[in-house]
Amino acid sequence: MEDEVKKPLNFIEEIVESNIRDGINDGRIQTRFPPEPNGYLHIGHAKAICMDFGIAQKYNGVCNLRFDDTNPTKEDVEYVDSIQEDIKWLGFQWANVYYASDYFQKLWDLAENLIKQGKAYVDEQSAEEIAKQKGTPTEAGKESPFRNRPIEENIALFHKMNSGEIAEGSMVLRAKIDMASSNMHFRDPIMYRIITSHPHHRTGTKWKAYPMYDYAHGQSDYFEGVTHSICTLEFVVHRPLYDWFIDQFANSAYRPHQYEFNRLNITYTVMSKRKMLQLVQEGLVAGWDDPRMPTICGLRRRGYTPEAIKNFITKIGYTKYEGTIDISMLEAAAREDLKPRATRVCAIFDPIKLIITNYSEGKSEPLTTENNPDDENAGTREITFSRELYIERGDFMEDAPKDFYRLTPNGREVRLKSAYIIQCTECIKNEAGEIIEIHCTYDPTSKSGTEGGNRKVKSTINWVEIDSCISAEIRLYDRLFSIEDPSGSDEDFRNLLNKDSLRVIKNCKVEPYLKRAKVLDHFQFLKQGYFTVDKDSKPESLIFNRTVSLKDNWAKKE
Ligand code: ATP
Ligand code: MG
Repeated sequence: MEDEVKKPLNFIEEIVESNIRDGINDGRIQTRFPPEPNGYLHIGHAKAICMDFGIAQKYNGVCNLRFDDTNPTKEDVEYVDSIQEDIKWLGFQWANVYYASDYFQKLWDLAENLIKQGKAYVDEQSAEEIAKQKGTPTEAGKESPFRNRPIEENIALFHKMNSGEIAEGSMVLRAKIDMASSNMHFRDPIMYRIITSHPHHRTGTKWKAYPMYDYAHGQSDYFEGVTHSICTLEFVVHRPLYDWFIDQFANSAYRPHQYEFNRLNITYTVMSKRKMLQLVQEGLVAGWDDPRMPTICGLRRRGYTPEAIKNFITKIGYTKYEGTIDISMLEAAAREDLKPRATRVCAIFDPIKLIITNYSEGKSEPLTTENNPDDENAGTREITFSRELYIERGDFMEDAPKDFYRLTPNGREVRLKSAYIIQCTECIKNEAGEIIEIHCTYDPTSKSGTEGGNRKVKSTINWVEIDSCISAEIRLYDRLFSIEDPSGSDEDFRNLLNKDSLRVIKNCKVEPYLKRAKVLDHFQFLKQGYFTVDKDSKPESLIFNRTVSLKDNWAKKE
């Protein structure tokens, strides 16, 4: 049977299965997804989400959502809310929502405990001085002059750090480990720093000393009972410190372990919340959910479904080496996903009037068209045909070369999609010499769906009926950046934006069927691409976003 074909395990799944076999942590599986609420989630996070929630789902474990909110200068409830919305939209559900800030007291107590053991001290040097003493991987660091102050003094200063009397940056708490360690992270890492400039989004002004990631993250894992703390490769070098902190406090056999996979990078975009925030704040995009952004909400607005995103993540997989994924793979995932979902409709982007001179004035007739040839259950619908239509201006050419198979006044026949075969007789121009109308005749015996409908001609063109069609705004989106690796360039990434990443066409003419289109509905505009109804669209002023073109035509454009 087809669904018994087993997918090969990724390397994290292999580790998890072997841990279960060996009864590590009693065979229990617990993961967490730990976003810092300092921005919206992006597709890189989706990769981590699929891993963290996926492992828990597959191995009957638990995955919690933990907000890693230890830096109040950049964090906000707006982000907390959007993160939850996006995870749910992707189709995952956490067991509990936790906040690192819930552990501030516990973390404080443990830090104090470490000071009492003589394993942490308050350093009054500036950040610059501390950095200067760090040494290099081949050269030992220098010890701080405050390293060996008495325990009581350290305790008193640590409390002072949290009192509000001490200026930001003037003191830090450091673990006292080894200034000569070959692992730079062991050279007396900072555990606490003072932040008084911003209240915390949950704890307000209660705390002035905030724990650093390396200390807070592992301990939060430990408090919650996490077994597999999965993160990205840049944390490999932090792992020994993660383990060191756990060893200082663990009082049972249970241990959380950190595992790392390659982070997602994609060409022609950026994958950093800091950079995305800059784009938003400087008005270079229309917000976090601008359809050009690689954010989950941007991709959703663009027309990506949760399935398209998850299929993409499955396809690219998880490895232990860094790399960059070609954005055309993401776009291909959208096409593949929308093909069976999207109803085929006619949308005329650059309309020109077509008059069928041998069709009676005032007459109209219903015709039948297919909703989706890639979905056998999609059925058909009725469209209205009459004497006056709109077609695409580009489907007509007055002096056409031999290989132009669409409309031209040379007697060549063309089929109107799901309708009749026509033949152009003349084109009408205004005083300026611009074509304003195309005249043609139709063959009444050639109706699609009848015997005469089988008559083959070289080309089929799209049309909408003038009386019944409706206007719409079409937003043609393209890649956000003009070069493959905007983060790797010497040039500021903001100067590398693709100037043609958004083209708006107003007054397109679309089938009246689209009156019923609801926000986030997907369509294929025949010959144009896949389009999705924008969140600002209204029945009386429709807006469609191009999710992706029908073919990958980026290469041609360069
Ligand atoms: P950014 O660099 O965009 O600010 P971050 O790593 O600081 O991202 P967090 O909110 O700390 O963002 O990330 C939460 C989780 O998502 C972490 O486990 C992190 O490893 C993972 N993650 C972040 N970016 C990516 C990515 N590009 N690919 C895969 N996982 C990612
Ligand atoms: Mg982070």
